[in-house]
Amino acid sequence: MLAAPRDTRGRPLHDLRISVTDRCNFRCVYCMPRAVFGPDHAFLPRGELLTFEEITRLVRIFTGLGVEKVRLTGGEPLVRRDLAELVAQLAAIPGVRDLTMTTNGTLLPRHARSLAEAGLQRVTISLDADDDATFMRVNDAGVPVAVVMAGIAAAEEAGLGPIKLNMVVKRGWNEHAILPMARRFHGTGRILRFIEYMDVGHSNGWRLDDVVSADEILSTIASEFPLEPMPPTHPGEVAERFRYADGGGEIGVIASVSRPFCGDCSRARLSVDGQLYTCLFATTGHDLRALLRGGATDADLEADVRRVWGARDDRYSELRSSETVGLPKVEMSYIGG
Ligand code: SAM
Repeated sequence: MLAAPRDTRGRPLHDLRISVTDRCNFRCVYCMPRAVFGPDHAFLPRGELLTFEEITRLVRIFTGLGVEKVRLTGGEPLVRRDLAELVAQLAAIPGVRDLTMTTNGTLLPRHARSLAEAGLQRVTISLDADDDATFMRVNDAGVPVAVVMAGIAAAEEAGLGPIKLNMVVKRGWNEHAILPMARRFHGTGRILRFIEYMDVGHSNGWRLDDVVSADEILSTIASEFPLEPMPPTHPGEVAERFRYADGGGEIGVIASVSRPFCGDCSRARLSVDGQLYTCLFATTGHDLRALLRGGATDADLEADVRRVWGARDDRYSELRSSETVGLPKVEMSYIGG
């Protein structure tokens, strides 16, 4: 048996993020702004999407190359019908040790139990403010905070905790919600993670001035809750971890703009229609669906992914500059957040 592949910088392939749909029931201003993703936007037709069987076949192949962690995302993964069936198929693959999902939480009251029963282990839920005015302005879909809170509760009841909560901070939109969010979740066992606004895709009009840096986020929180750094739980972890000095739990910051972490990035991404991307900021992918639908054997697919990973040289966040911002990068909803 061949050894697990390493890329040109010696990085192994360990995590796979799968976008199961390019559709979403939110129109977050920093991700799927309504002006671009409005009623006339053409989402992918169903036949273009990988089927659950195709995804499962690929994940089995990826586990043979070192992948242990699989995260379902999108778009909003829970708008894809019968998703628990995919979860059950993936949970049955012996090499999948960690099976998780990133969701906006709105549909969890309906689905959390069946997802947990199918074998989902944890969920990360996105919530960008704890007051309705700010949150509804950001999600642009009229969804109040209470709906997401109900999703958090449903996930916990179903055993999908401990819950991680993602808050993207965009200047002028929600930086005033940093402390209120910290207050709300301090002492609850829920792990709040603050994400620097990134230049993913090309429809959100990203500008460096819109980024609230991890340092600024941390000093805002520390003004009320002193923080102590914590060691990473594993190599390649995206969040820098901190604990509240008063014992109120843990938070994280994901500083991909101000402190890029390409050096130990072990993540690959599979788009809705089966393109393999080796970087969140890539401009092109590698067409695995054409191979799948063109009669490739498992050995062909494995050799192909091994070759793509072996040639990988991406380190976009380390090279980010005013010139890279305008590159035609793929959208987060398509490639998976
Ligand atoms: N719909 C799901 C959700 O809301 O979590 C999953 C997909 S969403 C693209 C995944 C995560 O990416 C969310 O936490 C979202 O806030 C984050 N995200 C989207 N665009 C981003 C950007 N430009 N910069 C930083 N994070 C972003």
